[in-house]
Amino acid sequence: MLPSLSRYESQKRRDWTTFGQYLKNHRPPLLLSRCSGANVLEFLKYLDQFGKTKVHLHNCPFFGHLHPPGTCPCPLKQAWGSLDALIGRLRAAFEENGGRPEMNPFAARAVRLYLKEVRDDQGKARGIAYEKKKRKKSQPPRLHCSTATQDINGDRFKEDGSSSVSVSGSGLGESSESKGTMVLGNNLCRGSGGSMIPLSVLN
Ligand SMILES: [Zn+2]
Repeated sequence: MLPSLSRYESQKRRDWTTFGQYLKNHRPPLLLSRCSGANVLEFLKYLDQFGKTKVHLHNCPFFGHLHPPGTCPCPLKQAWGSLDALIGRLRAAFEENGGRPEMNPFAARAVRLYLKEVRDDQGKARGIAYEKKKRKKSQPPRLHCSTATQDINGDRFKEDGSSSVSVSGSGLGESSESKGTMVLGNNLCRGSGGSMIPLSVLN
């Protein structure tokens, strides 16, 4: 842990390491230089298994209820706001680590479309009216369209954009962002003790 870094910066480093581990553990292994938007989508879908946001299916009686009065077997997924913030950090990290902007897989059209799809789906499933809330806010536009993050992510999203994708799967209670990331590290790279790997994929 590097206390001198801002939360955003340290989160960005952890995300970048996590993505590097994902590429390394992929079968067959993927090279960052050959990574496409499709691989980024695979990564985002992979992360859903660690998600904590209930997304109701169309035939669920709670479809459209933000606070349903009961339980249902609908899947837990990563909140759109978490994915949106994650992609923003990874997109920045890619270029900071020498990637050419025009080759940035995190900026791929397919990724933008997927995020929009997730936002729409989760908004409908959970009864969240994005557009209304969005208009009320007067935040300056960010590089990425993340102004509505608060809506889907609730209190988990911090204003500095450093909300972490939840990966601990521990259910109740919010784990610290570092703990969540370490758990993901363990899942991605069993046997390594979850320690940070050198960013060899970049060198
Ligand atoms: Zn449901």
